[in-house]
Amino acid sequence: MKMNPLGSTGLTVTEVGFGVLTIGGTQLNLPLAEGASLIRYALERGINFLDTAQYYRTYPYIRRALKGTSFTPVIVSKCLYGSYGQMQEAIEEARKELDRDIIDIFLLHEVRSDMDMEQRAGAFSCLQDYKSKGIIKAAGISTHHVDVACIAAKNPYIDVLFPLINYKGLGIRNGKDPGTRESMALAIKAAADSGKGVFAMKVLGGGILSADYRTAIEYVRDLPGISSIMMGFGYKHEIDRIIEMMEGTLPLDYKPDLSSKRIFIDQGDCEGCEACLHRCPNKAIYMNEKGQANIRYDICLTCGYCAPVCPVRAIIML
Ligand code: SF4
Ligand code: SF4
Repeated sequence: MKMNPLGSTGLTVTEVGFGVLTIGGTQLNLPLAEGASLIRYALERGINFLDTAQYYRTYPYIRRALKGTSFTPVIVSKCLYGSYGQMQEAIEEARKELDRDIIDIFLLHEVRSDMDMEQRAGAFSCLQDYKSKGIIKAAGISTHHVDVACIAAKNPYIDVLFPLINYKGLGIRNGKDPGTRESMALAIKAAADSGKGVFAMKVLGGGILSADYRTAIEYVRDLPGISSIMMGFGYKHEIDRIIEMMEGTLPLDYKPDLSSKRIFIDQGDCEGCEACLHRCPNKAIYMNEKGQANIRYDICLTCGYCAPVCPVRAIIML
């Protein structure tokens, strides 16, 4: 698979990475051996870039996948919390659970505004300290927000930007409003032009755009400034197809089989706004006692209408 430099970080990554959120407890919840085997398969097929996070609880899969092998993938992890101590704890936890002295990239996870960035200054300062000690090689942020990506593009201490972008603009935010793919693409280019490494998330809109597979992948892959696209895989054949897609051998009329797909709500992200509840044409969503959305699978049509209205991209298709 084609390798790209990740901005000025000195790291080189494959043009597709494996976002391992899909195999963990909040999504497919694969048995440890099965999830590790899937990661190992991706590595054997040439993918060298793995995305995880403290919140995903997927470190054991990666550790097991790498055990006894000579693979040395670039690993990115992230922390949702804001204080110096919380970030320190997150980095040390990753080092211990991954059995690695060095974590290649560590990020502030899902920065939502400039104020959020300011409130997490302690955590960011910790990233800088760990970078100066050589324990992490690059620091940065992940975000769904255009306004945050624009700020990151100008911040000399940010090495890496992990933004949400897809060809329908699903889930892109700009302040309190929806953002556009065009504005995010401009922020990505600005970040890359100033030397930041940029890799993209939610290229298939959490699975909602799978029916437009080729269009969706090509749109993000070909954007100026993108070094890699992070894909969530649950099956070996999904890894095979993306590799064929990137190598130009995938049949032009390929459409993923969506018959086993289902809509899933990530309870960790749901903010209880009820937008999905009102959008569902089949009354297949209800709010639980904690005020979070749930799906009634017996009447869900898997139409995907609910996903685009979720302001935090908590609704995905697996
Ligand atoms: S996929 Fe369609 S039917 Fe299912 S919960 Fe979403 S909007 Fe409702
Ligand atoms: S639209 Fe998203 S945040 Fe709002 S209730 Fe539904 S899942 Fe939760």
